[in-house]
Amino acid sequence: MTQTPNVELLKQLPQVEEVLQSPAVAQLAGIPHDIIVNAVRAQVDALRQRILGGAEPVIETAAIAEAAAARASSLNAASLRRVINASGVIIHTNLGRSVMAQEAIDAVNEVIAGYSTLEYSVENMARGSRHDHCEPLICALTGAEAAIAVNNNAAAVMMVLSEFAAGHEAIVSRGEQVEIGGSFRIPDIMQQSHAHMVEVGATNKTHVSDYERALTDETAMVLKVHPSNYRMTGFTESVSIRDLRTLVDERKAASGQDILVYEDQGSGAFLRLEAFGTYAEPAVVESLNAGADLVSFSGDKLLGGPQAGIIVGRADLIARLKANPLARAMRLDKMTLAALEATLRLYLDSETAMDHIPTVRMLIEDADSVKKRADALKAAVEKTVPAD
Ligand SMILES: *Cc1c(COP(=O)(O)O)cnc(C)c1O
Repeated sequence: MTQTPNVELLKQLPQVEEVLQSPAVAQLAGIPHDIIVNAVRAQVDALRQRILGGAEPVIETAAIAEAAAARASSLNAASLRRVINASGVIIHTNLGRSVMAQEAIDAVNEVIAGYSTLEYSVENMARGSRHDHCEPLICALTGAEAAIAVNNNAAAVMMVLSEFAAGHEAIVSRGEQVEIGGSFRIPDIMQQSHAHMVEVGATNKTHVSDYERALTDETAMVLKVHPSNYRMTGFTESVSIRDLRTLVDERKAASGQDILVYEDQGSGAFLRLEAFGTYAEPAVVESLNAGADLVSFSGDKLLGGPQAGIIVGRADLIARLKANPLARAMRLDKMTLAALEATLRLYLDSETAMDHIPTVRMLIEDADSVKKRADALKAAVEKTVPAD
């Protein structure tokens, strides 16, 4: 049943001009006039719709003006802005993960202020590839044959599965079926990339024999996922990259079948930081040395660079990824490339990396130094925010 709208109320709705004269709106400063007019109109329209729908709201020009002023102000204010991270979590996804090194900030500023060599090779005086900027650095730092960087690690995983496991089977341990913040779940990514997921082992333990039994003629890949934000302790066991390598090599020798070993490392450390008391995250180099064909990881986690997903490994496989249409859909823009290249360059000297990359520097910072910074922050906050 639709109610008859209250015509009297409709008549009471103020004209836009009248609301514009109202103090709350009239005193708005620094906001473009069009934005204010649109906000007032939207506010009046919303009331009109409510009345037409049978509601009987109180019509007050001052209240409409206040709501419109709030609407206009919020449109005009920056939404994405600086905050203080006092959470104790260094790589905090909700707060933007890694803070860039000054070198990365400078590189971005330099590149966005004018035209650039994004896809142009000055040396060859011809079209170049945007992959050329970071690949040599990533290879130098990880010992990989080849590399590609895309929008983020979720995209990297998606690309690897679609290119190499679509229509085939990919084996993954049940102990590595974790959800990584923001709804990244391996089964969902598998489905989206048309790979058939074959789960092996139990939640707490997976053995080489579990993988071995799961191998079929349809197996294209064994996937190892590093549970970055989650730890199982106690009666647990997982299979190393080295053992997976041996397994697929034996299969290849026996039947000629090619099966890829791929590790989604999540954080992808370039430095060994255990000496400083941080968590021992597997290093990219170790995974490659242990026999992974491909390894992928984020640019903005332990690496401390911009949001990116980096895939390293065999040159023939990376060449196929570069040719995949997803590489075009998930490519990096020049700002990210500039920041990533600058961050990677800092890793060429590990002392420089530890000193200049904020994420790395904070991870190895000792407790006394953190306390000093916290005390200084507390004093600064108390100066500006009155205690009550
Ligand atoms: C963080 C993470 C991802 C997703 O990486 P993004 O760069 O956030 O897209 C994928 N896999 C693992 C293991 C991760 O830790």
